Amino acid sequence: MIQTHTEPLADRIEAIALKVLGGESVSRDDALALTQARGDELYDLFYWANKIRIRFVGRQVKFCSIVTGKVGACSEDCGYCSQSKHHSTHVSPEKMSVEQMSDAADEALKNGASSFGIVNSGRGPTDRELDWLEPFFKKTAEQGTIRPCATLGELTDAQAKRLKAMGVRRINHNLETSERFFPNVVSTHTYADRKRTIQTAKDAGLSVCSGGIFGMGEQWNDRLDVAFELRELGADVVPINFLNAIQGTPIYDKTEPLTPLEALQIIAVFRFILPDKELKIAGGREKILRDMQSWIFFAGGSSFLIGNYLTTFGRSPKDDHQMLKDLGLNYTTFDEIEHEAEPAAATKNGPGHPIADAPNALMTRKRDALVTLPVMQGD
Ligand code: SF4
Repeated sequence: MIQTHTEPLADRIEAIALKVLGGESVSRDDALALTQARGDELYDLFYWANKIRIRFVGRQVKFCSIVTGKVGACSEDCGYCSQSKHHSTHVSPEKMSVEQMSDAADEALKNGASSFGIVNSGRGPTDRELDWLEPFFKKTAEQGTIRPCATLGELTDAQAKRLKAMGVRRINHNLETSERFFPNVVSTHTYADRKRTIQTAKDAGLSVCSGGIFGMGEQWNDRLDVAFELRELGADVVPINFLNAIQGTPIYDKTEPLTPLEALQIIAVFRFILPDKELKIAGGREKILRDMQSWIFFAGGSSFLIGNYLTTFGRSPKDDHQMLKDLGLNYTTFDEIEHEAEPAAATKNGPGHPIADAPNALMTRKRDALVTLPVMQGD
């Protein structure tokens, strides 16, 4: 039966929020109403998303950092990704040594990160690649100062168990978008393949981090599908990425970038649907939100990526720490305690330059040196 609602949307947003605060799950019909907020209604939506965040997650913020263990030359054709061998971008294939990964983990720790992820290009890891990663994961797990995470693509049951045994605590494997929209951006594997790996990781007893990329031309219904699917799958952490279109990828210049308010609305709607999850604001934060980055918490976000991204620069960790101080927010690290951080002015493991020096640059790794290659973003 189709329900009709005649009350002003601001009142309906409040009524839905009170249900969530009372422990009820948001229905699809209610979630759809939240997507219709515009103008001043958006500020009502953010107000309530913030209340839900504080009620279910608390005031503490978390950071995580990632680095590309293996970059480029990927067999897959994800239309948003600069690492696919099907696209002509400035990313060159390269691999990190165990020492370089450890150095990057140390830097992440100094920046206050609670988790540190190794992200490899490719459909899935080979057993030889797991041999290469094992010493790093074992050492990091033994040190116990930062949560070791892995983004390695599709996993078999045996590989997921092996990663757990070597100390990996969390697997990141994003749904990216809805089942309906997925074939518009990827043809070399399916949405069902992605879901299977999430289930495999869960079955192995690993924590699951899974989210999406928004601004690829999907509709609100696709975004809701992602949020409800993740609620169903029981993801622990949900990264929200905003498309930062890279020259040379098929999606470049095909879609209008999200506005900052629409990006914040996505965060808020996800907070209503996933009230107690860690909502992590990831790629595209600086580019899409611009001056509104500090609003991610008011919109319901509870964590974010600090430092550089996989192939683009992040902003200065010092600036991110200053933003939290200015907002009166604290952060926690791996052991749920706020340690004194030594945030860097610029993250070395990544492009190695302050973003102001090379906005929207791509990076590629050449042995020990990090070479930056400017990207023409057209703006
Ligand atoms: S998103 Fe991952 S699987 Fe897809 S092309 Fe990029 S590196 Fe390959």
